[in-house]
Amino acid sequence: MLETATSIPAVRAAVAAARAEGRVIGFVPTMGALHEGHVRLMEHCRDRSGFTVASIFVNPTQFGPSEDFDRYPRALEDDLDKCREAGVDLVFTPSRAEVYPRGESASTFVEVPVLSRVLEGVVRPTHFRGVATVVLSLLNIVRPDLAVFGRKDYQQQLLIRRMVEDLHLGVEIETAPTVREADGLAMSSRNRYLDPDQRRAATVLFRALEAARRLVGDGERDADRIRQILRSTIESEKTARLEYAAVADAETLEELGEVAPGRAVVALLAARFGTTRLIDNARLTE
Ligand code: AMP
Repeated sequence: MLETATSIPAVRAAVAAARAEGRVIGFVPTMGALHEGHVRLMEHCRDRSGFTVASIFVNPTQFGPSEDFDRYPRALEDDLDKCREAGVDLVFTPSRAEVYPRGESASTFVEVPVLSRVLEGVVRPTHFRGVATVVLSLLNIVRPDLAVFGRKDYQQQLLIRRMVEDLHLGVEIETAPTVREADGLAMSSRNRYLDPDQRRAATVLFRALEAARRLVGDGERDADRIRQILRSTIESEKTARLEYAAVADAETLEELGEVAPGRAVVALLAARFGTTRLIDNARLTE
């Protein structure tokens, strides 16, 4: 049965009861407007834990002043159905005041250096301090054994791993694969902003990543040529505006000159379709 909680003491009590029964506690933080990608993340977590907690909280501190916080989709009833379907045991849906008791501007913040400044951090300079802060806060509330994040937000899961390591949080972080629509578009709560033309064009992110993977598969080692194919594929869609096309070290996100054998390399993309900003990524080497 799905339990819900809006207060920190209620979450702590439910988790303590499950732990007293010897169950492993798994946790999946989300911002709601759940889709199949979130459901798979929850299932992934449920398969590895005896008690699965999900949170639904649209975190104001990770949105920039001109971003979509106010219009970010909210669909609580449907979200609860999806959590039930995924076998979640407890859903935490806190208010802003529960998470930020002193108000957001007076809150303590966590900064993860370097990883928060590149790629997404260039366009969204305060985004990752909001993400790191809310994730740390939620981990402290739930105190799970394991937390699961999506590879879709590649930089985010790296940054969370770094924070967990640096601050000795002692929680295991798992990264689950990106879930895609049949035509390759990575599922995202923001896909619902796309009009039909933009929706069609948005598959170009996946097509560009596939082209890059093919190039590497054919033996290309020059990272600039790989960036070039990413760029030219995206630019082939008139409605797409590319923000970045990176070929980077999979651990440090440092841009590479060469895709050397034995090195873990990831391609990362961000582009706008109208006002909607989408990201995607793929490993170029195993
Ligand atoms: P969000 O609600 O967008 O903040 O996402 C909550 C979690 O779901 C994050 O760990 C995301 O990386 C993950 N996620 C979102 N979309 C996908 C997807 N298409 N595939 C896998 N994980 C996803």
